[in-house]
Amino acid sequence: MLHTFKGGVHPKYFRYLTRNRSLMIASLPEKVSIPLSQHIGIPAEPVVKRGDYVKVGTMIARGTKFISTSIHSSISGVVSAIENQPHPVLGSAPAIIIEGDGKDEYEAVSTNNPESLSADEILDILKQKGIVGLGGATFPTHAKLTLPKGKKVDTFILNGAECEPYLTGDYRIMVEKTEEIIGGLKIIKKLLNAERSYIGIEKDKPEAIRRFRELLDNEENIEVVPLKVKYPQGGEKQLIKTILNREVPSGGLPVDVGCIVNNVGTALSVYEAIRHGKPLYQRVVTVTGSIVRNPGNLIVRIGTRIGELIDQCGGLTEKAGKIIVGGPMMGFAQHTLDVPVIKSTTGILCLSEKEAEKEGELPCIHCARCVDVCPMGLLPTEMRKEIRAGHWETLKEYNLLDCIECGCCEFSCPANIPLVQLFKLGKSEIRRIERL
Ligand code: SF4
Ligand code: SF4
Repeated sequence: MLHTFKGGVHPKYFRYLTRNRSLMIASLPEKVSIPLSQHIGIPAEPVVKRGDYVKVGTMIARGTKFISTSIHSSISGVVSAIENQPHPVLGSAPAIIIEGDGKDEYEAVSTNNPESLSADEILDILKQKGIVGLGGATFPTHAKLTLPKGKKVDTFILNGAECEPYLTGDYRIMVEKTEEIIGGLKIIKKLLNAERSYIGIEKDKPEAIRRFRELLDNEENIEVVPLKVKYPQGGEKQLIKTILNREVPSGGLPVDVGCIVNNVGTALSVYEAIRHGKPLYQRVVTVTGSIVRNPGNLIVRIGTRIGELIDQCGGLTEKAGKIIVGGPMMGFAQHTLDVPVIKSTTGILCLSEKEAEKEGELPCIHCARCVDVCPMGLLPTEMRKEIRAGHWETLKEYNLLDCIECGCCEFSCPANIPLVQLFKLGKSEIRRIERL
């Protein structure tokens, strides 16, 4: 029997566009714009200035606080400016601009035997190398893997669900870099002192399931779990419910129920950082959509303009109606192709004008579809009313802060009400009031 969680939706996945496109190394960009804020937490502080020469992997900004992390150059060349630049999530934010010299020179790194490192040494390397959650959340990995005092973890879950429509980058690394991902899994499992591990993969990725099973044949306490194909199966709380039948309490964290979840891309970058000393200066990005001439899964240097990547994929067959960074459910619509790939960029989705068309908002018909599909058990229709009325205290009682902004409610709403936009607004207002 396949495991699952309550609620969720079944959008069209469109993975056929890129699922069989092997990882391809994107061209070396001539110039990169690397934002100081591309992780959850305090932005990194620049440690270079205009005119400095940097190599691939040179630390250019340091995470000075615990919930922060470092940022590295993705090309060799000269720092030409530190200034506000387009940002795919924040609109505009300070970034370090590097003009490349085309030489692609690398910073020297030291390799390690993970077995010989202490837990503190591993956590320190992860912070120095700028490792963050690559599923889209970008929480600094050293912070996530540092257990709060008194907390214990019995289970580590590797998230290979990749439930967002269109995206196939995680699938490709699961097929092409299986051993390295398992290497990362073992480093994390040992670090957490977890008794067992599960790798959750949606069943529409049989080749990934087969690869892991083949390589883990003789491993005890690491199990591959095929999951029902349903969005948002890759949400942390949904994955924990599905695999362990444990409920993370409202406002709580996975560690409160004895587990930690990391994405497969994160496990890969943990392995590369610990074993090979590699900082996080590149990531896999799915460039996709029906109007992309030659869609694919590209290994991209952080800071590359998304317009350059669309060009490398043969450009567009017709005028785009919408360009989204990320997937269609949780991604961010862009107004310019000048935004750079950052650590959270899972995909670039190009929709035609027809695909992007949206009908106008209608009055709520109280059908409760949004309630039925909410994977967090919330009451979207009530929350919508309270936000529009500005009843912030009531919204706390409705657990608005538990909303994971998955978009299932909006996807199902026959009245086209922009529910996620409202919930984002409501959450930021509650947080603003709490800070006062
Ligand atoms: S966006 Fe929030 S309210 Fe809507 S379905 Fe997802 S978790 Fe529920
Ligand atoms: S799905 Fe839309 S129309 Fe139906 S109750 Fe929810 S908000 Fe109202």
